[in-house]
Amino acid sequence: MNSNGGRDIFQKIIDHEIPAEILMEDEQCIVIRDINPGAPIHVLIIPKKNIPRLAEAQESDVPILGHLLLMAQKFAQTQGLSKGFRVVINNGPDAGESVPHLHIHLLAGKPMIWPPC
Ligand code: AMP
Repeated sequence: MNSNGGRDIFQKIIDHEIPAEILMEDEQCIVIRDINPGAPIHVLIIPKKNIPRLAEAQESDVPILGHLLLMAQKFAQTQGLSKGFRVVINNGPDAGESVPHLHIHLLAGKPMIWPPC
């Protein structure tokens, strides 16, 4: 649920109500291609449980948080991203969060600069 009591766009993708390119899925999460990619490879690892953002994760969410990172690792392995990849979580307005449903960005496929802002 979002702050309006409705379901956010990622929840609708998880429930197969709106289309998305789902690249990987298991009982706990999905991996979809970002609709507005910031790199040649840009996917989102999204938990099926709606944790709005990292700042609202609970101690009981430790297993799913770890699972999301290992799913990112698994995706990188399946894509052969031996030259590297970046994972990002945007938390809150200053960080550019636009969907209030926790997700990890995985970006790859080109050299990236640091810091990103
Ligand atoms: P954030 O700004 O960290 O909340 O990231 C939200 C991301 O979701 C952005 O990179 C968007 O391009 C992406 N996005 C929004 N709607 C969709 C959608 N329907 N399918 C795939 N990616 C989406």
